Amino acid sequence: MNRPEIDYNFAAAALRRADLNPDRIAVVFEEQEITYAEFADRVRRQAQLLRDAGVCVGDRVGYLGFNHPALLETLFATQALGAIFVPLNFRLTAEELTFIINDAGVHSLVVDDALRPVVEPALDKLCCRRYFSSESEADGWRHLSSERAACEPLTSTVAVDQHETGLIMYTSGTTGLPKGAMLTHGNFVWNNINASMAFGASRDNIILTAAPLFHIGGLNVMTLHSFHLGSKLVLLRNFDPAAVLENFERYKVTHMFGAPAMYLFMAQLPQFADTDLSSLDVLVCGAAPVPESLIETYGARGVSFCQGYGLTETAPFSALLTPEHAVSKLGSAGQVPLYSGTRIVDADNQPLPAGEKGEICLRGPNIMKGYWNRPEATASAIDSEGWFHSGDIGYLDDEGFLYICDRLKDMVISGGENVYPAEVEGVLYKHEAIAEVAVIGTPDEKWGEAVTAVVALHEGASLTLEGLREFADPFLARYKLPLRMEVVEALPRNPAGKVLKFVLKEQIVGE
Ligand code: AMP
Repeated sequence: MNRPEIDYNFAAAALRRADLNPDRIAVVFEEQEITYAEFADRVRRQAQLLRDAGVCVGDRVGYLGFNHPALLETLFATQALGAIFVPLNFRLTAEELTFIINDAGVHSLVVDDALRPVVEPALDKLCCRRYFSSESEADGWRHLSSERAACEPLTSTVAVDQHETGLIMYTSGTTGLPKGAMLTHGNFVWNNINASMAFGASRDNIILTAAPLFHIGGLNVMTLHSFHLGSKLVLLRNFDPAAVLENFERYKVTHMFGAPAMYLFMAQLPQFADTDLSSLDVLVCGAAPVPESLIETYGARGVSFCQGYGLTETAPFSALLTPEHAVSKLGSAGQVPLYSGTRIVDADNQPLPAGEKGEICLRGPNIMKGYWNRPEATASAIDSEGWFHSGDIGYLDDEGFLYICDRLKDMVISGGENVYPAEVEGVLYKHEAIAEVAVIGTPDEKWGEAVTAVVALHEGASLTLEGLREFADPFLARYKLPLRMEVVEALPRNPAGKVLKFVLKEQIVGE
């Protein structure tokens, strides 16, 4: 195949950045400092290892693990070969992972030590040809770091076009079935341009990442941006609010991305009041609106928020509310970045004027290429004019600020994680006590929304929340398990039999 003359390979750009900055620190992880030269060397050797393992242009390489430099090294090594990186959510069960790994047709899979027990029982059902364990040796697994060290560094990366897929990230889109959003090398480049304009493109930024790297927010808002800037990334294995505060002070962090629940947990710690936050430039927040009380709590400590709206499919930047507008435009998700377009449409896909509510549609160089192997789902998400239909309801004010009001799609966001009721309902329907079930989100102070199962039971049957959670536990990641259960006589349905979730919500929370 002819390779393009203009190279958009995101990994190649990051490696070039490493050549310019060899002695600067690229990543700090568990007190270990990795320079750009060391990082690039690991990436080049790992790319050669993957090539020797048979990974070719367009093949998929999966990574299942907590935040770790190996995840980023695997991402860049994969992309350097013109192959496609598939990050996997470490909270998923073996069954959920099996579906995704086989759907993506993963050629080689890298797994964190702690998660090998999750996939090991499912290995005979997986399509992968090679298995690597990321941190230590294990029976039947190839050991990533020792094999990588024995490889010669890859000398030249594969040139790619901006429309070639560099990463497939699984999301459920507007329905309950996980689908792989194909993000292109061009999507990453544009997201970086937007991030540079929004947060300042300085090599002296010190970026802390505690949000999971398998999610677009944790990965692309600030983390990959750090490699483009040549700045320092302080990477935490997982989110621990006390460790974040400690690292703010220790490394004089300037930027972090998180969901509102994360910032809330940090502010609730007793040591929050005494933590030195003076190095912070801005905290970037996405996935849900930032409550006013949180803006005030951090504002009193001299820290402001940049709030973002976006989706996996939009890689993710779609609107940004900068600190100067945090109060005057309270409740808004902000303005649309340069080079991107937003419009609000009615049910017939006709544009609506400012102030009127409809579905938020987004267009621009940050929009995914489509869903992996799902042309119909792609065609229903991206219309013939290239507008991506977000499934969110909102409006634009006279000055072009976007307000998000509701969701067209059936989705609950709990602690920043998306939960698709259809998937949870599918599992709960297998419980023998349950005659009918609907899953909705109810307001929750800690999690934003609580996954709530509304059940109608068979005559004479009984069920507790604990019993329900125990039953669903082997099939669903923990964050999808109901936090509340309500028993009703019957679910409200329309004449066609469709459950009326808004009526249910009114009944349960009085909304
Ligand atoms: P994901 O694909 O996991 O990033 O989820 C995207 C969804 O999160 C969007 O479609 C919205 O429903 C929701 N979301 C993201 N950012 C915001 C925000 N700032 N305010 C309200 N909802 C948001």
